Amino acid sequence: MLLDGKKLLITGVLMDSSIAFHVARLAQEQGAEVVLTSFGRTFRITQSIAKRLPVTPEVVELDVSNQEHLDTLAERLREHTDHLDGVLHSIGFAPAGAFDFLNATWEDAATALQVSAFSLKSLAVAALPLMSEGGSIVGLTLDAQQAWPVYDWMGVAKAAFESTNRYLARDLGPKGIRSNLVSAGPIATTAARSIPMFEQFERWGERSPLGWDLKDAEPAAKACVALLSDWFPATTGEIVHVDGGFHAMGF
Ligand code: NAD
Repeated sequence: MLLDGKKLLITGVLMDSSIAFHVARLAQEQGAEVVLTSFGRTFRITQSIAKRLPVTPEVVELDVSNQEHLDTLAERLREHTDHLDGVLHSIGFAPAGAFDFLNATWEDAATALQVSAFSLKSLAVAALPLMSEGGSIVGLTLDAQQAWPVYDWMGVAKAAFESTNRYLARDLGPKGIRSNLVSAGPIATTAARSIPMFEQFERWGERSPLGWDLKDAEPAAKACVALLSDWFPATTGEIVHVDGGFHAMGF
């Protein structure tokens, strides 16, 4: 199996529509042991959704904007695992004001940047004490090379996120840790539905040579599992597109 014996930390399981839920499911099917994170009011929801996985995993508290949570993460994880082979960052949030580009406040933009971009660095550093034997960090982006209708400061945050991935690859490579992103096409999750006019993304399939199903998180999740495995040993700082081929097409 692709992840036989691997120990993974998976953030971002909110509902069974979450991309992270499908990564956790496939990872367990491929032999991994998984610990989830959640926070605040969503903690109990994650605990209940976790029961739908093949094996019910432990859930630990982690709000990536809470420094105390980050500082104590490794210590709290040691109750469940002695090390980590991989970490999935599947976290995104921006306040409603961040989806109005010209009128957004710095507070709106700053929250988007902290929770959706800086958090990749925060999570990696928090997990580092458990990754002394190396491993793989994987995150999820929506292609930040172009401006989208309505994505606005979340799009700017994704550009920062993609750059953060490259700097993490630079600084963690010598420790044997790879950092890569999956650039997924639109998927109808809770976070996606909070984007105004998300239904505009329904046209994605028309420009994708392979077509695109907004209800299917599995293609993106499979790529995450592959990147978490030992089958990309010399790949880091990379962005793998799982978007039906949309990014490679003109008209
Ligand atoms: P989702 O709503 O299921 O997951 C988002 C997760 O972020 C939730 O579990 C939420 O609890 C978590 N989160 C928010 N603020 C947090 C904080 N302060 N600390 C810790 N966790 C926090 O949605 P999703 O679509 O599965 O999103 C997962 C990732 O995939 C995000 O980075 C998103 O930008 C990315 N992505 C999504 C799409 C899409 O169309 N759904 C496309 C490309 C990339």
